[in-house]
Amino acid sequence: MPFPETLNKKPKVIFFTDFDGTITLKDTNDYITDYHGFGVEERRAGNKLILDGTDSFRNGFQKMINSWKVPLTDMISILEQNIKLDPHFKDFVLWAKEHDVPIVVLSSGMVPVIAALLKKLLGEDLMQDIEIIANDTQLVAPDNSLDKVGGWNIRFHDESSFGHDKSLTIRPYANAIAEMTNDSEKPTLLYAGDGVSDLSAARETDLLFAKAGHDLIVYCEREGIPFTTFEDWSSILDETKKIWSGEKSLRKVAEEGLKRHRTNSSSRPPPAPGTFNRKQSLSQEQRPAIQE
Ligand SMILES: [Mg+2]
Repeated sequence: MPFPETLNKKPKVIFFTDFDGTITLKDTNDYITDYHGFGVEERRAGNKLILDGTDSFRNGFQKMINSWKVPLTDMISILEQNIKLDPHFKDFVLWAKEHDVPIVVLSSGMVPVIAALLKKLLGEDLMQDIEIIANDTQLVAPDNSLDKVGGWNIRFHDESSFGHDKSLTIRPYANAIAEMTNDSEKPTLLYAGDGVSDLSAARETDLLFAKAGHDLIVYCEREGIPFTTFEDWSSILDETKKIWSGEKSLRKVAEEGLKRHRTNSSSRPPPAPGTFNRKQSLSQEQRPAIQE
């Protein structure tokens, strides 16, 4: 269900989430690149350029796609056989359905791939409730076919250096919520992600679930963005239930998450605690340099 209908139904929580490596255990685009494209070493070298700001995510991803030696249709079957969902994601979807919590997938991947995988791994019934906002595909002459290697290409969602600037979807929600006069009707916006494709979304929601051991945490900690870590969707479900019921405040979840993260990580001195205001999204200059 698209904006603004999602808001009109007055949910208590709206859950935005990344797809690759967050809902799935492995990143689908990395998988195809490693086994049917230019391979893991070149991909990692490309990632470093994106992380240190030398190359854009959009350009780096296009290079990966250009190296793929399988057509889109074969790629989908390969992924259906090799990619698994987080074992607890289905429980989250069932709970969300029962409690009228909309789930919006914001992905830097491509809609037909995500839709096919959710249909196969989650089932047609459950996936129909999930909104997918991602890049798409376009046919390319002369072959004009998803069944031929050169017959298609990615169609990016927008003109941003990300290809898909995830903040563009979240911002209208945040703006509409800011204008609501009745505080008790304001939904809480949550986001789950793991990596560099999530930087454009990181500042936009009330609380971010960042996957333990991945790049997004480094960025959130440095920028003072409230976050809590997750290992899998069972911990996301636990915390979301508490936020939904009002048993725990966002501040408490974020404070506990930060404490847990610091206990588990190195002795680096902590930055100042984050604020709870939604801020402007990243400008090109603010893009972080994170070590892979
Ligand atoms: Mg990801």
